[in-house]
Amino acid sequence: MTALPPNATIGILGNGQLGRMLCLAAARLGYRTHVYGPDSDSPAEQVATESTVAAYDDETALAAFAKTVDVVTFEFENVPANAAQFLSALIAVRPSARALEVAQDRLKEKAFFAAIGADTAPWKPIAARTDISAALETVLPPAVLKTARLGYDGKGQATIRSADEASAAWDAITGGPSKFKGTFAVLESFVDFVCEISVIAARGVNGKVVCFEPAENVHANHMLVTATVPAKISAATAASAIDIATRAANTLEIVGLLAVEMFVKPDGSILCNEMAPRPHNSGHWTMDACGTDQFEQHIRAVTGLPLVDPCRLADVTTINVIGDDVNKLEKHFADPNAHIHLYGKRSPRPGRKMGHVNILKPKTN
Ligand code: AMP
Repeated sequence: MTALPPNATIGILGNGQLGRMLCLAAARLGYRTHVYGPDSDSPAEQVATESTVAAYDDETALAAFAKTVDVVTFEFENVPANAAQFLSALIAVRPSARALEVAQDRLKEKAFFAAIGADTAPWKPIAARTDISAALETVLPPAVLKTARLGYDGKGQATIRSADEASAAWDAITGGPSKFKGTFAVLESFVDFVCEISVIAARGVNGKVVCFEPAENVHANHMLVTATVPAKISAATAASAIDIATRAANTLEIVGLLAVEMFVKPDGSILCNEMAPRPHNSGHWTMDACGTDQFEQHIRAVTGLPLVDPCRLADVTTINVIGDDVNKLEKHFADPNAHIHLYGKRSPRPGRKMGHVNILKPKTN
């Protein structure tokens, strides 16, 4: 494929902060952007060339959107499969409908990891409350019950420390937001990890894969707090993590990014947790520490431009700015090594990602 020329328009489904940063990267390369999503005054809308505020199942709006763009990509994987399929009939949709399908469903995701020879924590599918006690005989507690679909940042998850907590855990994941009702779930054993890492792979239209180095991620309440590179892992663990992400991106024939989150066990071996075919919060360090960041690499992939070595120039820690922390950034504004990225969200609700700060240090290795 010849690359899309400057001034071509990239359509982006989803108009949150990942869409915003995709738009900014696209603009640097001379592309226009048209973002589509249900929320008005969104982070992406503020910087996109054009914006459509409409529901994902509004086929009239989707068809009109498709007419204005040269390629479609997305900033989050929970775009309804029907919307992606509808658009695929009209225009190229990248990474791919198959990538969306697998990443939307933890059952399919775990089966996919097994199919590419990557390990996961022991797990069982759960279709009803009554399945949990039988599953706990093989998936020993402590275990985590997770909705198969639509969970994020710990939403739709409950920990089971002993069998008598099973029923309460089911209530917790099914009785919350109505969107979780009636969904399948997975029960997986709690992993006693030494650290969590993620690898972001970029794959181009020609099948070339380029990976960013593993980031070491710290979560609190299931939400990412910091991502640090280089990760404190052995060269063998890093190579194995990159190999898994490469195999996953190749098998799914991704065109764009695939982020794979993994647990590292005390012996250095890896268990895969989940993946997302899009830019990832744990890859924001690339924005200031690399020659080419994850957003540019995604735009390069979906427009057919060549992918390049990310070329890391510094050690780095990303700190997520969550909720009211957005009003406490004085220290970072005074630090010349702190690179601040705010998402333009109006209300700093607790738990809401408002921005991130990349703190750079001289490169050690
Ligand atoms: P997830 O939504 O599956 O990415 O979970 C969010 C975070 O919760 C992970 O990054 C971990 O910090 C924690 N977590 C989820 N599942 C497990 C598990 N099976 N064992 C240990 N920690 C977990």
